[in-house]
Parts: sequence; C-alpha cells; structure tokens
Amino acid sequence: MEQLLPMVIEEYNVFKQFIRELYKQTPLQEYTKSLDIFDTAVLVSIISIIGLWAIRNLNFPNKDYNQSFFGYLKAQIFLFFVNYCPGVNSYIEKQKQNALQSFSDSMEKMTTKKTLKLPENGIDTDTIMDKLNEWVERDIKHYGSGKVSGSLYVMPDKQFIKNAQDFCKNFLYSNPLHPDLWPATRQMEAEVIRMTGDLFGQEKESIGIVTTGGTESILLGMLAYRNWGEQYKGITNPNIVIPETAHAAFYRAGEYFKIQVRIAKVNQTTFQVDVNDLRRQIDSNTVCIVGSLPNFGYGIFDPIEQLAQIAKKKKIGLHIDACLGGFTAIFAKDHGVDLGKFDFTLDGVTSISCDQHKHGLAPKGVSTVLFKTKQLRESAFFSIATWSGGAYAAPSMQGSKCGVGVAGAWFTMQSIGKKKYIEYSKKIMDATQLLAKQLSEIPEIQVCGNPQINCVAFISKQSWLNVYAVHEILTHQGWTISSVQKPAGIHISITQQNVSNLKQYVHDIKAAIEKIKANPQEYKKGGEMGTLYGTTQKIPDSKLAGQALKVYLDSLLKI
Ligand SMILES: *Cc1c(COP(=O)(O)O)cnc(C)c1O
Repeated sequence: MEQLLPMVIEEYNVFKQFIRELYKQTPLQEYTKSLDIFDTAVLVSIISIIGLWAIRNLNFPNKDYNQSFFGYLKAQIFLFFVNYCPGVNSYIEKQKQNALQSFSDSMEKMTTKKTLKLPENGIDTDTIMDKLNEWVERDIKHYGSGKVSGSLYVMPDKQFIKNAQDFCKNFLYSNPLHPDLWPATRQMEAEVIRMTGDLFGQEKESIGIVTTGGTESILLGMLAYRNWGEQYKGITNPNIVIPETAHAAFYRAGEYFKIQVRIAKVNQTTFQVDVNDLRRQIDSNTVCIVGSLPNFGYGIFDPIEQLAQIAKKKKIGLHIDACLGGFTAIFAKDHGVDLGKFDFTLDGVTSISCDQHKHGLAPKGVSTVLFKTKQLRESAFFSIATWSGGAYAAPSMQGSKCGVGVAGAWFTMQSIGKKKYIEYSKKIMDATQLLAKQLSEIPEIQVCGNPQINCVAFISKQSWLNVYAVHEILTHQGWTISSVQKPAGIHISITQQNVSNLKQYVHDIKAAIEKIKANPQEYKKGGEMGTLYGTTQKIPDSKLAGQALKVYLDSLLKI
C-alpha cells in the first residue's frame, strides 16, 4: 500500500507532462491565451465531464496492453482529441504525410529506372539478364562486409552459396501441395522435420511443420494452442502470457487469431522474464506461456526450466521460441557449455519454433515448428472435407507453395552436418561472450543481462549519452545494426558474416562515444532513430502509434 501513493503521483506527473506536450503541439494554445477565469472554469468542467464519460463508457482496462490506469486515461483523452478535434486530427495527418514523404524519399534514393506497366512485348533475355546483374550487384553489396547485424546468416563462403543456389533452383516450380507430382520435395520436407526434431529431443518420431519463417512458425504454434484450448478445454476467450521481450510475431498472433496477449515484465538487470509476474497473469483461460531462447532484442534466454514447471503444474502449453537461438544453443552441450534444459527432454515444453534460415544457415524462407504431441499439431492443421473444389488439407498457412525453402534447408543441413554446426555454434557463442565482456568494460554503457548465445545489447549509463546517437554514428560508418526500445539500446546479432569483425565493432563504439562526449549537445536527440522512437513513444495510444508506423509500409510498396 505504501508503494501505491508514489506510483500514483509518478503516473500523475507523467500524465501532466503529456497534457502539456499535447497542448503545445495543438493550435489550442492560441485560443486559450484569451481565456478568463470563467472560460477556464467552463473548460475544466467540460473536460471533467468527458473524463467521467470516458471512464464509464469505454472498455477499461485495455487488457491487451497491460496499461496502467493513467496510461489508459491518457490514451482515451488523446483519442478523444484525435477523433473530435479537427485541429489535432489534421495535425496528426500532417505528421503522417511528413513521415510518408521522408520514408518515400529514402526509398527513392535506392530506386533506379522504374517499371510501371507490363511491357507491351516481352523484353529479350539478354536485356533482362543485364538487369539481373544490376539487381544482384545492388543486393549483395553488404555480403562479406562484416558490418551487418543478423539478416544474413550464412558463412561468407562464395562456393557454398553457389552450391545452395544450384541445388535450390531445380525446385522453383515445385509445389509440395501436390506430393504425387513432387515426391522429392515431400520427402525433403518430412526429413527436415525429422532431423530438426531429433536435435530437439524427439527421439523416435518428429512432430512438426515446415513453414516460411519464424513468424509463421510462431503463428501456427499460437493457433494450435487456441484451437486446442477450445476443443479440449472449452476455452472460448483464450489468452497467452508472454515476456515483454518476446518476438512481435506473438503480438501478431494475438491480433490475427483473437487471442488476448498478456505481457509479463522483464527483470531490468537480468533481462529475463519475471517469472512471478508471468505466473500471476495465468488464469483459467490461459492456453500457453512463452519463453525465448534467446529473445531478439536483448539476446537473453528466459528461465526455461522454471517456465516448464509452471506450465506443467497449470496444465497449459509452453512454447519455446528458438527461432534465433535454436541452431546455436542446441549444440552448446556438444562443445561443453551447459545452458540447462530447453528442448522436449524437459517435461513441460510443448512446442518449439526454430529457424533454419537463421543459424541453420539455410537460404531464406524456411523454419520449423515442432510439437510435443500429434494432438497439438493437428490443432494447427487446416482441412475441409466438404469443399466444392474437393477435399482439401494443408499443414501450414500457405496453399500452393514453392519447394525452394525446404530444398534450401535440406541441402544446408545435409551439407554442413553436425560437426560443423557444433564448430559454428562454439565460434558464435565464444564471440558473443567475448563481445559482452569487452563492451562491459566501456564505462559509459551497460551490457543487458548476461548474453551467452548469439546476440548482445547495451544501454547508456550516462544522461548525456543518447544511445541512439551511437547508432547514428555507426550507421554513417557502414554498420547496419538494430536499436531496441524498452529500454533504449543497441543490439547486434552475431552471425558467421560479422563474427570476425567484432573487434572493429567495439572500436567503433568507443570512438562514437568519444565523439558524443566531445559534443553532447549536438547528439542529444539521437539522430533518426531517436526521433522515430521519440515520436512513437509520445503517442499514448499504442494502436495509434502502430498506425502511424504503417505509413512506412506505404512507402515500401510504392514505386
Ligand atoms: C527472427 C526471430 C523471429 C521471427 O522470425 P522471422 O523468420 O523473421 O519471421 C522470432 N523470434 C525470434 C527470437 C527471432 O529472432
């Protein structure tokens, strides 16, 4: 109880600050200059009435976002302004247009001669091949630069890449939806599941689905729990409890499949999920909980064994998101590192997502979701026996699909083999731990938690150091790294491409910090990233902030 009052006061101060900010940005300021006491009293009454109306009539609390009371109120007042004040509305529209323009400008810089219409007559192959060379040259510029976080995971080995391309190109026209016509792709798919399941402790038989990527693997996993919950437990209003650091795909599953997403806090020292907060949020409608191995943002893996105990006790699912870490972590024991149990040998784990197209080193477009039981996997399958077009069944989200993804995974797993994967895993894990150590020796920053697998993040320890400014400076030096936001930090996902260049990374970070130290005022706003996050975080309604972000997608899809 004694903690409550300071919390309320703090919330109130944040709220007040927000109203001030909002007020400053609207034309209201002009009007209110001329108000006298009477006008002010009327205004205050009106606002109070609106506030009371909002509390009574709006759906409180906004369950999906775990908002505090004032957070919710702030969002509602903001939405009221947006919806009913023409000034605010047009202000936001203008901001959106500005953002669209600036995104479009940066896309434009990367665009060459445009095609807007289907050519009247087909273009001859030589001309198209010239274009191919141009396309490819532009797209592979960063291959081998060693300055990219994640994104491209394969070894910088031209011959290996060529072999994979040669193998895969034969399956461009295949369609595993028709196994009778493409028996080889069907077999490769089943073998990819078998090999992957075997790695994760499915000894006798593997139960999984091959997908196009981690996102689809997670979507199918969550869909399975929703359907399973409904069929076997009668849950019609399902929820999942995920760490705040879990991948965006879980939030997307919530949106797509109408599953309520409950967010468990993350410990700000260890960056692991707060197990007590997670347990507290489980109720009779919870179908599954989630742990990351590791999470994308901070590279930390959650206390999986504790989560497994909870899942077992509550008789609900536990999904392990090993999309990023799977192919690194699973080989840790083989090179003498004990990460504890996290696969199907641990009682309580009921599904695992794992990407071949990340540290599995395969070409893009392939991942696997594994299930503990066939009953659970079946809950993710789609089938309709009575469709007018004939009996229809497909395991994943796609109907017709291309066999290239599965061929790429099959080729890569066969070609690399266990010994090499162990070697790669050791190289990546050693480099990760060394990088964390070296970064932790820089006094101005703090490494997030204890990163052990393949991703390291840091935050600023100094008030004068906006960490996004480091990002800005590194970007100008040719680095493509990611910024994270809760808390503000920078991460690098270590790959076979950049693993040998991390000394340079540490050096460049130190130099960037020195540069900022010499002139902190200039870097206060943190460059482009600082502005982006600054703006989206100022919008109190997270859905509206998300909508603002969608203008980025507009610019992507525009020519
Ligand atoms: C990359 C990633 C995903 C999603 O995978 P995509 O292949 O990008 O769809 C999910 N979880 C984690 C932890 C990831 O790093």
